[in-house]
Amino acid sequence: MSRILAVGSVAYDSVETPFGARKEILAGSATYFSLAASHFVPVAVVAAVGDDFKASDLDVLASRGVDLSGVQRLAGRTFRWAARYSDDLNDRTTLSTELGVFAEFKPSIAAAQRQSPYLFLGNIDPDLQRGVFEEMEPPRLVACDTMNFWIEGRRAALDLTLAVIDLLVINDAEARLLSGESNLASAARKILSMGPKALIVKRGEYGAAVFGSGFVFFVPALILEGVVDPTGAGDSFAGGLVGCLAALDRPGPEIRGKDGGWIEEAALRTAVGAGTVMASFTVQGFGVEGLLAASAEAIEKRQGDLARMAGWTPTRLPLRRQR
Ligand code: AMP
Repeated sequence: MSRILAVGSVAYDSVETPFGARKEILAGSATYFSLAASHFVPVAVVAAVGDDFKASDLDVLASRGVDLSGVQRLAGRTFRWAARYSDDLNDRTTLSTELGVFAEFKPSIAAAQRQSPYLFLGNIDPDLQRGVFEEMEPPRLVACDTMNFWIEGRRAALDLTLAVIDLLVINDAEARLLSGESNLASAARKILSMGPKALIVKRGEYGAAVFGSGFVFFVPALILEGVVDPTGAGDSFAGGLVGCLAALDRPGPEIRGKDGGWIEEAALRTAVGAGTVMASFTVQGFGVEGLLAASAEAIEKRQGDLARMAGWTPTRLPLRRQR
């Protein structure tokens, strides 16, 4: 059984950035998440692809040990998304979102996967997210991502999902949209009252702010050259974060919100660092190229660089070493 079950999109993206353009490349929230998280623990993906999805693209995930038994191949087109980035890469305009087979997708979770202790509800229809949650044995930790498309279009369903999760990982524009507050501290307070035990607000090149019950902290982003395509940074961040939390896990209630436990600040700090590091690889290539090029040694080195930048005592990441 995998330590993490992740539901999200497996997609073909078309992106334009000041550094180039790519058409219909392998992407999607579950793709980025699982490639990043699989550096820490075994991951299984629940998603749908169309009959146009290339076997070689599934092989990319399988070659990293991602369990694809929950990926259904349905008649129809794979989810497609197209976007264009601003000159400074800080803003993007979605040009099109084509749900394809996700419009009809009804996930069914195999018996063994229902016991995965960590659940990641990637950016996808909030009803689908909650459907997956409801099929599970209560997981130790449920993390969730969403975006403007669902905040604006499916708010009532999203509110029901927010009520059942422990960790919400969104960017600052999404936090403002979700809360209706322009001040980030007010936005965080309001969002924490909607259900999540901790909120991580991604601020792109300006790092991530973490809000929990009784703590707030900030983790800077790595300052890097060679950034060409920010797509998937958020999902890779979530993959590093949840993967690292799952690998650090030990018996006991430390990283559990709903059952009276709490999300431990020290573990969260290391894990947000791991998320930051995984995202830093993603943005240095188009699609999944940058992430695929990251070795365990390179990940460890960047975690050390981040620790020095942030003034932390470096700690070893709980990476899997079998690759
Ligand atoms: P990120 O850059 O981390 O926010 O994630 C970008 C990925 O999310 C892309 O690879 C898209 O295929 C995927 N994506 C974009 N919009 C949606 C959506 N509405 N639902 C699910 N996945 C999406």
